[in-house]
Order: sequence, then structure tokens, then C-alpha cells
Amino acid sequence: MSKTKSMTQQSHPHVWSSARIAETYLAFFEQHGHLRLAGHPLAAPENSTSFIIAGMQPLMPYLRGSEPPPAPRLAALQRCLRTDDVEMVGSNDRKMSAFQMLGNWSIGDYGRREAVELAVELLSIFGIDWQRLWITTFGGDPSLNLPPDEDIVAEWLRAGIPGERIVPLGAEDNFWTTGGPGPCGRDTELFIDRGEAFGCGRQECRPGCDCNRFLEFWNLVFIEFEQHPDGSITPLPLRSVDTGMGLERMALLLQGAPSAFHIDLFLPAQQRLHSLLPNEHDSHDGHGHDGQPSAMLPAQREQSQRMIVDHMRAALFVGAEGTEPGRDGRGSVLRRLIRRAATRGRLLGITRPFLSELLMPLAQAHGALLSEEEQQRVPLLEEMVRQEEQRFQRTLTAGLRMLDSITPGERGVVPGELLFQLHAERGFPADLAAEILAQRGLQVEWPSFERATQAHREVSRSR
Ligand SMILES: [Zn+2]
Repeated sequence: MSKTKSMTQQSHPHVWSSARIAETYLAFFEQHGHLRLAGHPLAAPENSTSFIIAGMQPLMPYLRGSEPPPAPRLAALQRCLRTDDVEMVGSNDRKMSAFQMLGNWSIGDYGRREAVELAVELLSIFGIDWQRLWITTFGGDPSLNLPPDEDIVAEWLRAGIPGERIVPLGAEDNFWTTGGPGPCGRDTELFIDRGEAFGCGRQECRPGCDCNRFLEFWNLVFIEFEQHPDGSITPLPLRSVDTGMGLERMALLLQGAPSAFHIDLFLPAQQRLHSLLPNEHDSHDGHGHDGQPSAMLPAQREQSQRMIVDHMRAALFVGAEGTEPGRDGRGSVLRRLIRRAATRGRLLGITRPFLSELLMPLAQAHGALLSEEEQQRVPLLEEMVRQEEQRFQRTLTAGLRMLDSITPGERGVVPGELLFQLHAERGFPADLAAEILAQRGLQVEWPSFERATQAHREVSRSR
């Protein structure tokens, strides 16, 4: 393989803007016979509460064989949103709530060989440094009754990847499912070694490690089975390929950014946020009052800033499609994102509503990744976020004051009733309260929170 141009040698760090990465990907697969599909709206088709959580979700009927695809080869850019573990956002360089997935699909058309050949050709266009490319493969699993995927190892060797950088892993890493019943299959994942400086330093650090060194950026899934509610798998009539490349992760790599929160899509919002932060030396007077920062550690400050730009970008995506903050369904997810971001801002020492000011920098940075209609909605969204954040201000101030006054019991455990009260009387979300307490090294006794919630429910019911 003769492609040796390193991504670190690029003269201009932003040659590969996110929009250009997406267009290059989609145009490449179009040239190779794929039909380009428009991304599905973020609102999932199944019900009124959920969002698309995986790039392949809108294509499920084709992969399952229950509907004929518009073409056997497809490609698309799909927005996704996952809020089930939203408190982890920003805890590493890649964990986001909203993200964009590029995908190419073969519905009963090509298999492992061509999927690998196409991937290798596209990565050479992106100028990926082959010396830093690592591959993981399915290493076999007795409970699934599946042997190691030797065929995919052979394809990678054929493509010139040395055997020592092809790592077989177990089903938890390289058997892809939707997380429940549905199409599934063995996969092969592509990683870039970002270097020891990003690593955990452990001897066994390698692709699959949780640290920031090996970044997975593309997953090629060979959809060959259907998983049933009891966990068993049976072969599908069609053998398909389903790939997903994280656009933000690819931008991180090609732009040499320190994290996915520092790529071109976020930099202007990060700069705006930075200009709103009080000088750090102004806030070193020890314990906070009125929600002033109470001795946040540098890592917590960094994670909070990542959360704020992440949540506002997610709010931009959700709001741009017409969802408004509310009590139920998708509106409640939007409300929660705004409240979480507002709280993080206050903890960083920003004492006035500010979130709406981040929307325009985000929208402008996304450019053509938002439709024209969505761009035109941005002023409306600014007003919506401004009002929502304004409404939350008093709750936030009172809630943080109450949290500050909490004295933990033995072993740093806070009684769950206190969080229930905070929620029931002041509307302050319990999960947010728990996160803030965790920053002070305090844990919540959740069983008593559950008991208080249950008791409250029974009282309401008997009324
Ligand atoms: Zn590691």
C-alpha cells in the first residue's frame, strides 16, 4: 500500500471541514453505484417519544427483508440522538448525545470483500495514516454458536493491513445488535491510534480500551442474522452490509482536534462560551454561593463546557425539526437538555441566561449540514431557548442553594428524600442534583428516593 500521506502533515488543519467529509463520503459511494438517500428526521417513526439512535434504524425494513429497498446499494448521512447515558457526555473525547453517522449499505448485494475494498479506497482519499490504522474483528462466541470471522481477517490481510494490527475481540465488542430484537451480525471496526499521549498507559491498552488513545471511527457490520426476543439468532434471507462512520469522529481525526467537541462544528460556540466565562481567578474564593462555582476541578470545568456545546447542538437539531420544550415525549427531552446545559453554565459561574447565544454560532458552523428551512428557524429557536432558560432561572438558583446547604450523612451519602423534595417542591431534576452532589464527592441514597416517589404516587392516586 503506497498511501503514506499523514493526516498530521496536512498544511491547513481545516481542509477537511465536516461538511466536506460528508460530501466526499456520499459522492464516493454514489460513484460506486450507491443511491444517496436523504437522512431521516431525528424523530423516530415508531412513536412520539423517541429519536433515531443508530444510522441504520430507518433502513431496518430493508435489512430485515420485510420491504424491498429503493436500490441494492444505499448511502446516507443520518442524525442520531442518545440521551440514556447523557451524564457521560464529554467524559471522554468522543461521547456525545447528538451525532451524525455516515453510512453505506449493501442490501443483499456486495459482501466482505467489496466492503473492505471500498473502505480502503475512501480512506486513501481522506489521507488516513495507514501506520496508525488498527482493525478489530469478531473472535468467536460459543453462546452464539459462531466461530471466529476468519473471512474478514483474510480480507484485511489482502488489503495490506499487517496481522499484528488486526485484533480479534469477543461478541461484546464485535457482534452488533440493535440492543434488542432485530437484524444483527458480526462486525469489523476501524480504529486510529492517536498516540501514547492520549492513552491510559496500561500494558494491555489496545483497540477496545476505554481511554482516548484508540478511536473507533468506522464500523462495518455484516448483517446476516435476526435476533429474537429470547436472544437466539437465525439467518436472514438476505446477507447485507451496514456501515457507520461517525462524522464528528472523522472530523476529529482529519482536523487534528483535541476532541470531538473541538472540531469545526463546535469551535465558534466554544469561543462564544469561553467569552462568557468569568475569569478563573475571580472564582477562587472557596465555597460557592448562589450557584457560583464551588471549586470545580479543571476536568469538571472542561466536561461542563463540552456538555453545554453538545446539549445546545442537540437542542438545535431537535428544535430545528419543530419540537418545542414540554412536559412529555420529545419535548421533555429537549427541556432536559436545555436545563442541564443551563445548570452547567451556572456552575461555571455564568449568572445570566446565555444558552440562546450559542445557537447561531452552532448553526453557522454547521452550514449545509442543516437544511435551508432549518437555518431559517434558528431565530425562532433562539427565542424558544431564551424563554425556556429564563423560566428555569429561579428554580436553578433555589435548587443550587438548597444543594449547597445539604450536609451528608455518614460515608458522604445524601438521603434520597432530599432530592425528592427538591424535585417535587422546586421542579429541580433529581438526576441533575445527583450530578452536582457527585462533584462534591457525595452519593445519593437512591432507594429512599424511590420510596418517596412511590409514596407520593400512592397519595396522588388516593386523592
Ligand atoms: Zn487505554
